[in-house]
Amino acid sequence: MDCPLCRIDERKEKIRLVTRDIMVVDTITPKGHRGRIMCLYRKHTKKLAPLVRRRVMAEFRNFCIPYFFSYTDRFSIHKDTFSTIPGHWHVVASDLDRKAEDYRQILKTPRTEYRLKTRDVEV
Ligand SMILES: [Zn+2]
Repeated sequence: MDCPLCRIDERKEKIRLVTRDIMVVDTITPKGHRGRIMCLYRKHTKKLAPLVRRRVMAEFRNFCIPYFFSYTDRFSIHKDTFSTIPGHWHVVASDLDRKAEDYRQILKTPRTEYRLKTRDVEV
């Protein structure tokens, strides 16, 4: 089987997190974001059972919110609508920098946005 996500080279890729279920790596192209990462299910499968998916997404969020995206106040987790890698479950998350080259595409992608901090507003 010739799946790029099954043959991630652990010496070349920037691996952020590995658990029993998932691996989180930097995407090959940052597309102008300071942070753009991919969460992949470690077994080669496209469909996850709902319970597994929920567990995997919770793990990914728990990594994203307090750690990875601590430098920004919003990020989103994108569905793989525009993905070029078929057959292997994965999702990409990035900050929502308007100057990033894929910002318009992000707006067209089904996604979950997270807003992390509320600022005091002076009136
Ligand atoms: Zn695979």
